This record gives sequence, C-alpha cells and structure tokens, in this order.
Amino acid sequence: MFERLSKIFYGGDYNPDQWDESVWEEDIKLMKALRVNAVTLPVFSWARIQPSEEKYDFSWLDKVVDLLGRNSISIIMATPTAAQPAWMSKKYPEMLITDIQGRKHKHGRRVNFCPNNTDYRRLSGLITEKMAQRYKDLPNLIMWHICNEYGIYSYCYCENCARAFRIWLKNRYGSIEELNRRWNANFWGHTYYNWEEIEVPSYLTEIMPSWLGKKDMTAFQGMAIDYNRFMSDSYLDCFLNEVRVIKKHTPDIPVTTNFMGSHKPIDYFDWAKHIDVISWDNYPTNNLPVSKPAMRHDLMRGLKKGQPFFLMEQASNQVNWEPQNALKRPGVMRMLSYQAIAHGADSILFFQWRQTRGACEKYHSAIVPHAGHLNTRTGRELTKLGKELEGLGKKTVGSRINSKVAMMMDWPNWWAIEFSAGPNEDLLYLDQLEKYYRAFYDLNISVDIINPSYDLSGYDIVVAPVLYMVMKETASSVEKFVESGGIFITTFFSGMVDENDLVILGGYPGAFRKLLGLWVEEIDALYPDMTNKIVMKEKFPEMAKKEYECRLICDVVNTEGAKTLAVFGKDYYNGSPSLTENEFGKGKAVYIATEPEDDFMKDLIKHYCKEKAIHSFIRPQKGVEVTQRVKDDRTFTFILNYNSEEISVALPEGKYTNLLNGAVVSGEITIPSKEVFILEN
Ligand SMILES: [Zn+2]
Repeated sequence: MFERLSKIFYGGDYNPDQWDESVWEEDIKLMKALRVNAVTLPVFSWARIQPSEEKYDFSWLDKVVDLLGRNSISIIMATPTAAQPAWMSKKYPEMLITDIQGRKHKHGRRVNFCPNNTDYRRLSGLITEKMAQRYKDLPNLIMWHICNEYGIYSYCYCENCARAFRIWLKNRYGSIEELNRRWNANFWGHTYYNWEEIEVPSYLTEIMPSWLGKKDMTAFQGMAIDYNRFMSDSYLDCFLNEVRVIKKHTPDIPVTTNFMGSHKPIDYFDWAKHIDVISWDNYPTNNLPVSKPAMRHDLMRGLKKGQPFFLMEQASNQVNWEPQNALKRPGVMRMLSYQAIAHGADSILFFQWRQTRGACEKYHSAIVPHAGHLNTRTGRELTKLGKELEGLGKKTVGSRINSKVAMMMDWPNWWAIEFSAGPNEDLLYLDQLEKYYRAFYDLNISVDIINPSYDLSGYDIVVAPVLYMVMKETASSVEKFVESGGIFITTFFSGMVDENDLVILGGYPGAFRKLLGLWVEEIDALYPDMTNKIVMKEKFPEMAKKEYECRLICDVVNTEGAKTLAVFGKDYYNGSPSLTENEFGKGKAVYIATEPEDDFMKDLIKHYCKEKAIHSFIRPQKGVEVTQRVKDDRTFTFILNYNSEEISVALPEGKYTNLLNGAVVSGEITIPSKEVFILEN
C-alpha cells in the first residue's frame, strides 16, 4: 500500500473559499477538537483559482494549505475540473454538453462539460499541471482526487462526440461491414455504407422512452450499449488526461476519483484498472435496508479485487435531494461509518466541513452546521467517532476480507438487460443482485462482488444473477471453476447474448447450456399482479417450505442431464423445472428459472453454504451484521447491532479484545442497541 496511507483518515470536503478568511482559524480549531486528520480541497474552486484564461490565483489556496500543514492535517488535493468557470463556457461554448434530447446546454450546475471537447481537455490539463507543480512537495499531501462524480447527470450527444464515436467504432470494428454485422444492422434497413452515416443514439435517433416510463428503450441495442462503452471511455480519457500530468510530478502519491457506488453510466470495473485507490460517496436513504450500502461497499472493495477503499463522502446527518430529507436518527451516522470500515474502508470522510450558506446544498448537513459550533447531537456523535477512530490507529488499515462467495456484476450486462425490449420491463439488474446479496447478508456470509473476467479460484460458490451478456472467456472460466469443484448459481435471462447483444443461437442459455445441462424453450413474462409457485421435489432440510412463490419471469425448461429439484406449480408449464442442478466435473451448476420470493433464496443459499461448510462467525440474528477483516495473523471481527434492543451473542471459543474500549471478552456477550464491537484475536 501507499506509505502515507497509514491510518484511518477522518474529515471531509473543505471549501474555505466559500467563507471569509476570518473563519479559517476557527475551522482549524474545530478540526483539532474533532480529531480531523484529513480534508479534501478545492473540489469546485476552478473559477476562484482561474479568473480568466491568462490568470491563475493560488494565493488563497496557498494560505489554506499552509494553515493545514502547520496543524498536521493531511490533504487530499482535488483538481477542480468538475465545474468549469462561467467565462470558460462563454468563451468555448462547444465545451457544454448536448443532452439526450438533443438540447445544447448553457452554463450551469456542474459536470456540464463535453468529455470529448479538446478545450476542456487542454484547460483541465493545464490547471492540473499548475497544481501538481505547486503542491507536489507537500509532506502532508496523501492523495490526488481527480474531478468529481464523473457522469453524474448525463452523457453528451453533441456533434463532436458523434465524430469521436465514429473513430471509437472504427478502432473497435475495423470495417463498416464488421460494424453492420455486430449491430445486426440489416434489421429495419439500418445498413451503413459510410462511417459518417452513424448518428449518436439519442431521443432524436434510436432511443425512446419506454411506454410505461420505467427505463429508456432503444431500437438498436448493439449501438446503444456501444455508446455507453464509448461514453464511459470518454470520461475515462478526461480522468487519464489529468492523471498523466499528476504522475509526472508525484509518481508515488495515489490517485483517486470519487465513485458513486452503483452508478450506471460509468463502467467502474473498467476504470478501476487505472485508479490507485477506489473511493466513493455513500448516501443511503434512511428508509432503505442497511444491506444496500453493504452491497455497494462490497462492490467498491471488489473493483480492485479486495483492496481497501476510501469512503470519500457521506452526510453527517440529512441530505437535501430526497423528497423528504429525514434526519439520521441518533447513532445511525456512527453505525454507517463502522459499516463502511467493516466492509473494507480505510477512511471516514464527509461532505462537507461547513454547511453552505446559500444555494441548493444549504440544507444538506455538514460537520459544522449553520449554528457554527459542535455542541449539537450530531457534533457530539462526530466528536465521539473522531476519538474512537484515532484510538484504532493503524490496526485495521490495509486489512482484507477473505470471502468464500463471489457475486458477478458487470456494467455492459446491466446496460444490455435494461436496454432490452422484452421480456419484462420490471426486470432491473440491481434488484436482482440485491435479492441474492441479501440472502447471504442475512446469513452473515461475506460476499466479494467481482467482474466476470476476474479469477474464480479461491471461491467455493459463485453467484451470477441474470448474467445475460456472457463473453466466451467467462463461459470457459465458469466451466473450469465448476469442474474443479465449485458451485455456480445462475438464473433466468443468463448466458443469452454476446458482447454486442446478439443472441447465442442454438437454444438459451447458449453460453451456459452445456454447463447447466438444460435448454430454455420459452420465456414467459408475468404481469405485475401474477405469481407462480416453486414446488420442491428434492427434500433439502434447509428448505423450510414445500412451496414458494415466484414472479416476474418463468422459463419453460427442458433438462439435458440436469436434475430437477423443483417444478412450477401453475399454468400450462405446471410440472416443468423451476430449479435444477447439474453435476459437472467435481462441482455443480444450479439454475433458478424464475424470480423466487426472498425465503426461497435464503433457504437455498443456506443449503449450498452448508454443503461447502461456509458458516457465519456467530449465529445469524435479525438486524445484526458481521464481517471479518484480516491482516497478518490478526482477525478483526465487526459485529454491528442495528436493532433498537440489545442482543446477546455467543462468541466461538477464545478471548477477544474489543478495540473500541479495550475490554477482553469471551463466551456470551451483550451488545447494546445501535452499538458496534470490533473484536481482535
Ligand atoms: Zn459532446
């Protein structure tokens, strides 16, 4: 790991340029009181630093940097390139994006730049160069933070992007004939004879809002998916344009950009190869189950194959962008902070330091509220947390999670499923991932979220919900995994198409047909008020019920060697397989031909985990989360009690030290409501 990342960093986004200089000393005083040891700046200060194309003014930033340095507060230095100055948009109007409706934007908001605009690339590169030259030798510079939340609002669909898209396609496919073949352009007479004929897929061309408004549809999936790939690449080029400058001056300082968890427009697995430390912004809403942020933490950890990540932003209390911005209840901010660490975070950072006085984020909580002091409920919680994190020191930093279970996740697969016209508009990729994730989560079994291209050896169970788009290499790596003894679990609408969304002919699920020992003859979409039944044939002791409900999609399956474990209980395919298992080499490939109710998934997952001797550290309880991070010969077990009541936990044999209070515990212990134990042994 990087030398300067040797403790848990605590702090957040600091925007001193939005305040009078007279409060800066007070800021430092409060930071010290809270034990803040890192701040991120100057994320949105491009206009302040560069008042015109010819003029740069770093004087105020120099003062802040000096103040932080003198007080031993580390700096995550951000390039301010997410919000170009108004003069720049005026001088270079081509820099502004054109949205999916074909509307050329005017200056406003942020991340409102065309990623293929050469003036943006030049000017963002220049300010990055100035900053790198100026601040490269700061002893308290721990990380570079490039831009902010790439692709947050919209892709660009301008003429310049259209030209760049054609070049991208030429590089990818070589000839127009190959492009026609990959996009199946014979359909609706779309054959192209010249690259110039290709338009970008927007509402003016191939994209259409769906009849029911749930997700956009497209007439040409191959083209639409390629445009997403191209846009993800275009923003990546903006990122790399700045990284190249940074690395020239500070090759040993890690570089990051803040991700947004499950953010559809950008292929984070693809980007992760170019990023030193993954960081992300976690804003779970109060009314969602805690398994949702847990899954996103695991995804962020999975991007770089288990490497710890930075929690770059979270809110100390309420946000401003929900319809109802509920307060975080007492203890929740602290619990969510420890949840991040429990899943692999090595920092707890907030947006932002001081609550802004005007504009849309003035009612978004910050560390220092409008009242101007920390003698508040949130202030007291933040003070306690700062003290605790300081006490943890570097113990957990760099530690890893050893999961025996992996879940596959893939951005192009996500795009393909949700661009698909059929079979069911209610089929949403994240919903499906979350259902399977929750089954493991409720059993306190740790899951790595990995890309299908990642190495599968080392796992006992690999789950791939709706892995619709499958590369040849993935199919063979999954076969190898099962042959050598692994259990692979997949579902309906998997193995269907290649990277261009062309159906793999010869019977679904083409890529997995041999492995699963079956073929799917028909795919039935159920109306929202319709259900079917999964009727168990095989009597697994973990399956608590004989019949489970299912919905969304039902496959009509013909087995070709697979064993039928359950059948459908209704409709004309009553009695045909709904759950199958195929022995393949030393392992098994399991197919779930519908969307089952949650109990079914939990029971089935329990069954296969038992088969592989994968257990929770303690007996699973409702509202209790357990993870383990390991470093050298030390194990750190996190037990989080989200319940409103205390719980009693029976620890396995041994003595454990609770790192939060130093107490040595063993046997039966009591964990109060909204409390976390970090047990070292
Ligand atoms: Zn553009």
